[in-house]
Amino acid sequence: MRKKIVAGNWKMNLTLGQAEQLINDILQAGLRLKDGQEVVMATPFPYLLKAKSLLKNTPGFYLGAQNSASEKSGAYTGEVSAEMLQSVGVDYVILGHSERREYFQESNATLAKKIDLALANGLKPIFCCGEPLEVRKAETQNEYVAKQLEESLYHLTEEQLKNVVIAYEPIWAIGTGLTASAAQAQDMHAFIRAQIAAKYGREAALRTSILYGGSAKPSNAEELFACPDVDGGLIGGASLVAADFLAIIQKL
Ligand code: PGA
Repeated sequence: MRKKIVAGNWKMNLTLGQAEQLINDILQAGLRLKDGQEVVMATPFPYLLKAKSLLKNTPGFYLGAQNSASEKSGAYTGEVSAEMLQSVGVDYVILGHSERREYFQESNATLAKKIDLALANGLKPIFCCGEPLEVRKAETQNEYVAKQLEESLYHLTEEQLKNVVIAYEPIWAIGTGLTASAAQAQDMHAFIRAQIAAKYGREAALRTSILYGGSAKPSNAEELFACPDVDGGLIGGASLVAADFLAIIQKL
């Protein structure tokens, strides 16, 4: 009943030419997605328009951005608003990635504003949460993630939550080659779903797609996606290699 999604987070990589090549290589594989499956490609801002024109005729393939502003419009040099993203045909926006939280000081409160503006402009946020290594070592990851959800999402109505995808990305697993085990991922995903159920009810929780991110690759995607509460993945490094990204999609 809930969507299964593989989303590629390209981060700050590739030139326009390389971006076009990657999208074409992926589309030319001619993958047929099953009902309820979606692929998202979150490209850097300058490539969004081009990516939209390449993706638009392929069912199940959607365009994502990697960030959007916490303000509506105006004198914010260098920022890109949710309304602008909507106007170029963006479907999804990654919000709260740990790199944004760490290097650009994005707080849970700022993210709540970004989520609101994204939703108000018809974008579907992929809201990232996840704990750093020291929190995992102290075994307080559940409390840590619960607070992220509470402070950035729980002001939403149940109706709004329908358009939010959650991505659990343990920071110690991002770009490190160190993946959470399937059991660790399942435990956290089940915990997140239980939190959503406690706040919004069981139906809302069962409807929410929760993706895993952090060194997901063709060799571990099958095991991760087989977990009952893992509804796909947010893929960094492996989304830059067409063959790897395609192999991951096929594990959905
Ligand atoms: P990774 O990145 O797959 O390269 O670990 C995931 C992410 O940061 O979204």
